[in-house]
Amino acid sequence: MYDFIIIGGGILGFSTAMQLQQRYPDKRILVLEKESGPAQHQTGHNSGVIHAGVYYTPGSLKARFCLEGNRRIKAFCDEHQVHYDECGKLLVATNEIEMQRMQALWERTEANGLERYWLSADELKEREPNIVGIGAIFVPSSGIVNYAQVTATMAKVFQQAGGEIRYGHRVNALLETSNEVRVSTEQETFTSRYMISCSGLMADRIVKMLGLKPDFTICPFRGEYYLLPEKHNQIVNHLIYPIPDPSMPFLGVHLTRMIDGTTTVGPNAVLALKREGYRKTDISPADLVQMFTNLGILKVLAKNLKPGLVEMKNSLFKSAYLEEVRKYCPAIALSDLKPYPAGVRAQAVSRDGKLIDDFLFMNTKRSVNVCNAPSPAATSSLPIGEHIVDQITQLVDDLEKSH
Ligand SMILES: Cc1cc2nc3c(=O)[nH]c(=O)nc-3n(C[C@H](O)[C@H](O)[C@H](O)COP(=O)(O)OP(=O)(O)OC[C@H]3O[C@@H](n4cnc5c(N)ncnc54)[C@H](O)[C@@H]3O)c2cc1C
Repeated sequence: MYDFIIIGGGILGFSTAMQLQQRYPDKRILVLEKESGPAQHQTGHNSGVIHAGVYYTPGSLKARFCLEGNRRIKAFCDEHQVHYDECGKLLVATNEIEMQRMQALWERTEANGLERYWLSADELKEREPNIVGIGAIFVPSSGIVNYAQVTATMAKVFQQAGGEIRYGHRVNALLETSNEVRVSTEQETFTSRYMISCSGLMADRIVKMLGLKPDFTICPFRGEYYLLPEKHNQIVNHLIYPIPDPSMPFLGVHLTRMIDGTTTVGPNAVLALKREGYRKTDISPADLVQMFTNLGILKVLAKNLKPGLVEMKNSLFKSAYLEEVRKYCPAIALSDLKPYPAGVRAQAVSRDGKLIDDFLFMNTKRSVNVCNAPSPAATSSLPIGEHIVDQITQLVDDLEKSH
């Protein structure tokens, strides 16, 4: 019998496992992951940005956890010799509408307690000779890291403290009783006093296995990138982001310096035809049926038809994608866009057709389930893990009191 079982070996699973083992050094904790190693889904297919906390609604979990997570992930990397670079980020306005949106973002960054600087067009040119814009916000605390490496380090710390990990174990059934949770994989059934799920693109399916009726569904959105050729590795000195359209849920195509010294362009946001499907041609009939019979997702698609079609056009035609980035970086040519692996985001959609913005959890008497943890959840992974450990501690206390 385990004390705690955690489903999912992404950054949230291992951040939670590591912190849970620190809080309960004598308890038996097991992580079950269906793949052959850690970080094989969202955590290993992202932009690698340590976000500062620019965009998020003041007071939301995202705003709080991102600000704290930014500081804590850097401290974790310092402690465990994981390389990161605090290269800073520029949010660039290219026209008057974006300038107005930039003013609103400036106020939001104030409310979120960020250090930031307003740059004129000349100051922007001085920092970034290859970027054109009429103004920018400079956020010095943004950085870059390899989140797969961070996750592997968390897994190592967890194991060294006595934690157990089973890779290649796909959870396919759950049963919560008054005394325990039974967690079944194809190979065997484990029992545990408590269970935590951090299962990313499968979050709603795990919650359903517990016999709950979640009022959200996971909608997978592909994020497609291009890699710039080596001659452009130094094309920018910072991370370069457009000013986002507030009606759109994602941040827009950005220029990202990667921790390995390369630079990528992306990601866009197109509906994925398969959860955990990384090639454009990956299609899952079962996932499609689930998506297109879900009222919430159909409402989201209907509401976002126009931007959705634009994203699809940009995905199908490289030249259209290029236009997005040439708005602020005209030096990039079509031949500069080289193939690069895509990622798939797990975005929870509510029954009434809204993209759920904040991090979301659903608890039972013996389980805590992460239901929505899109970007900046990698940046926020340490505070999210701590939040989960606090919640499970509360469940333990509640059950002990009731006995
Ligand atoms: C394109 C893209 C760009 C992003 N950019 C950034 C960024 O720059 N900065 C940032 O902070 N965030 C970013 N994010 C968000 C960030 O990557 C995610 O929020 C974060 O990785 C979520 O971690 P997770 O552990 O919840 O999910 P995942 O990494 O997806 O892990 C979930 C794990 O659960 C496992 N699992 C699922 N079902 C089962 C089962 N039945 N049995 C056993 N195991 C199971 C999966 O195999 C997987 O390993 C980005 C995401 C994407 C997709």
